Order: sequence, then structure tokens, then C-alpha cells
Amino acid sequence: MDQAKVKEVLAIYRTKLAELHILKRDIDVGERICYGEWPSSEFLAQCHTALECAEFHIQMDRIREAHRLLGIIQSIFWMTGVYTLEEIAEQNNMPGPWWACKDCGSQDHEKRNMNKVAREADIYCKSCGAFVRQWNP
Ligand SMILES: [Zn+2]
Repeated sequence: MDQAKVKEVLAIYRTKLAELHILKRDIDVGERICYGEWPSSEFLAQCHTALECAEFHIQMDRIREAHRLLGIIQSIFWMTGVYTLEEIAEQNNMPGPWWACKDCGSQDHEKRNMNKVAREADIYCKSCGAFVRQWNP
């Protein structure tokens, strides 16, 4: 996922937290918690901090750190039942307008070669068949 894609997925999650009325809460990073002891909202509140950190890393051109935080956010969304793994994979693969085909300019794409473990896929232009984005393991 490139920076533009990570930014878009982060924006989806920021909107979702607002829809769920989840407010930011700073947790004690030294606190040991066990799943089931906290309500889901406490885990989701932590996503705000992770979102801010991920956006900061993108600004600093540290995409690997942004990816790491995105993984944490997506794990929280999954374990709290906000999104299924399938929905998260769909968000990761959702073509954006910046994915216009470099060869013909079309934004009409299709996914191929879905990796069942990573849940990432190659994106092809439906108009000319060129790679729009190749999954990069
Ligand atoms: Zn094309």
C-alpha cells in the first residue's frame, strides 16, 4: 500500500470512529490488559492515537511505521467486531482515483491473484489489461 492508499484507509477509520461516537482516550501504556476486561469502546478509543501516529509517520515519509500502525488499528476493528476480515481486505484493495491506469487512464479495474494469506490482490485495468497495482509481498 502506498502513502495515498494508507491515507485513504485511515480516513475511512476516522469517519467510522466518529460514526460510532468513539472519543480519544489516552491509555496508560504500562497498563496490562486482558481482552474481555475492557469494553470494545476502550479498545476503539486507542485507534485515535494510532491514527494520529500513522498520519505523522506518513508526513515523515516512514511508510513502514504507518503500515505497522494500520495493522494495529485493523486488528482492533476486527476483534471488536466493527469490520470483518473480508471488509478490511476490501478496504485495503479498494481502488482509488489515483489508480488510474498509466497506459490508458481508465479507472475501471478488477482484482486478480488474490493472496489468501495476505488478502491482497493485483489490480488490473479492465480496459487494456495492464497492471494498475501489483501486490508487493
Ligand atoms: Zn488501461
